[in-house]
Amino acid sequence: MIKDKDNKLKEIKDEVLKCKKCSLYENRNYPVIGQGNHDAKIMFIGEAPGAQEDKTGYPFCGRAGNILDELLNSVSIKRQDIYICNILKCRPPSNRDPEIKEIESCTPYLERQIKIIKPKIICSLGRYSMEFLMKKFGLASKIEQISKIHGNLFEIEIGSQKLKFVAFYHPAVATYNPNMKEILKKDFEILKTLNNK
Ligand code: URA
Ligand code: SF4
Repeated sequence: MIKDKDNKLKEIKDEVLKCKKCSLYENRNYPVIGQGNHDAKIMFIGEAPGAQEDKTGYPFCGRAGNILDELLNSVSIKRQDIYICNILKCRPPSNRDPEIKEIESCTPYLERQIKIIKPKIICSLGRYSMEFLMKKFGLASKIEQISKIHGNLFEIEIGSQKLKFVAFYHPAVATYNPNMKEILKKDFEILKTLNNK
């Protein structure tokens, strides 16, 4: 059973390594496919690789990653128990915002990753990931500014599976605004309760 998951995720990896579905492949060093536990209960979905991620192929391994690690530590969740990926697998030039057509081209990979991993809790990191996932999960009418809905818990269904969704600010916001780190820490507290259920 677990082998099957590993194989299916490996198939996605092989496809992404060859992917030229949008122009972002032209400047990438490594695509960032995803990292973590294939049986994770919690899945984090960020925006796109930054410079450090593009150099290594691993998600959240630069400055935003240090903040994410601090947030996870604060609620005693280990990186090896979760799965982390992004809505875009390749780095946009100068870390510009994702474009709609890039999101459309790339997110079928993410949707397959979600269906294979079958997390119980999905957490978006940042506005783009929040908007994409809320539209996908039938929460389009509940989309508001991230400043209004960060940290709120939503119930969603994928197929016949019920799961929880929560939107967080992107950890990068805390690199230039220390107040945001406190807000993020407070929002992450929700994971403590959910993770122990
Ligand atoms: N920011 C993201 O959204 N994802 C990463 O992997 C790194 C930085
Ligand atoms: Fe393919 Fe996604 Fe990379 Fe575009 S961003 S080339 S769709 S893997």
